[in-house]
Amino acid sequence: MASMNSMQIAVLPGDGIGPEVMSPCIELLTTATRLTGAPNLEFDTLPCGAALYAETGNALPDETLARAEAAEAILLGAMGLPDIRYPDGREIVPQIELREILQLYAGVRPVRTFPGLPVPLSDPRAFKIDFILIRESTEGLFTERSKPQDGTTDAARDLMQVTRQGCDRLFDFAFSLAARRKANGAPGHLTCVDKANVLGSMAFFRDIFDEHARRHPGIATSRCYVDAMALNLIRNPWTLDVLVTENMFGDILSDEGAALMGGLGFAPSADIGTHNAVFQPCHGTAPDIMGTGKANPTAMFLSGALMLDWLGERHTEPTLTEAAARLTHAIEQAFAGDRLDPTETGGAHGLVEITDAVRAKLR
Ligand code: ATP
Repeated sequence: MASMNSMQIAVLPGDGIGPEVMSPCIELLTTATRLTGAPNLEFDTLPCGAALYAETGNALPDETLARAEAAEAILLGAMGLPDIRYPDGREIVPQIELREILQLYAGVRPVRTFPGLPVPLSDPRAFKIDFILIRESTEGLFTERSKPQDGTTDAARDLMQVTRQGCDRLFDFAFSLAARRKANGAPGHLTCVDKANVLGSMAFFRDIFDEHARRHPGIATSRCYVDAMALNLIRNPWTLDVLVTENMFGDILSDEGAALMGGLGFAPSADIGTHNAVFQPCHGTAPDIMGTGKANPTAMFLSGALMLDWLGERHTEPTLTEAAARLTHAIEQAFAGDRLDPTETGGAHGLVEITDAVRAKLR
């Protein structure tokens, strides 16, 4: 581990637009931490991803994994390319492998809007959405994702597995996040999103949620079926605070959350475990726009800010928390003031224009 004068950050730029959005993100993180006198971030750039697999036959080398695991935090661009696959046709997704190997069980997807974003809802409250979706990321419907099918041509199956251990650590995390938000002025209301009316695994999930709720009388809770939540996310997302759900449901709802912010290029994420955490934009490698300058780096920048905030809390280091706030504020100011019109939503501003606007506000 590095001293508090410096911190080692593993950087996995990956494929497609991953390296494009990563490079300005590193620049802004360096500026933000210098401005607040925070520990110096030492970025350790590591090879990983689909292009690496094409070259070497290994998408996630042991050396990369070891150095990422030893770092204070992991910053990831995006990984996977449609034409580069394993022999059985599956996509190369080392980012999912990292979640499993490092047991990053809590997928944190903040959905927060601010003026100037190209939000799709016309209600003025669409600029005041502020909720966090927590997606279980190590089991659920992804449990046997790497297991080959049994070869029959008549059927295929996937396992939805929910364990007590997986639920306990997930709900511990969710209740403490709701409490932290409540301490900062949010409602502190946690909603369990499931399908307990149809699936036994989801009834089990909800029962364990209820046990945890009884132990946290200070946190208001509710329960909602995933189909109803898909509707609520469009009808009244400004009423939501913290949601916790199963892996696949979270995968789907988090893209809906990204749409509420204006698109995938605006949505940050954190995958958090007991010892490690990965911060990355919700979007993929976007090979259709790679190299065109059209990539929206906002989600990457917001993910970088989430990393600073997480490091600040973990190390009780206010200069890092302050650097996170400054970077987030600069992003908000760039959209509020400069009337940015991202290419992603049909405008003229891409990677360079958005980076310049944020850089100009970061001081
Ligand atoms: P994955 O399976 O890796 O999540 P995906 O196929 O779901 O990836 P993306 O690679 O995220 O999808 O791309 C989906 C669409 O969104 C593409 O048309 C892409 O160009 C666009 N897109 C994604 N991220 C961005 C971004 N940061 N800026 C602009 N457009 C983006």
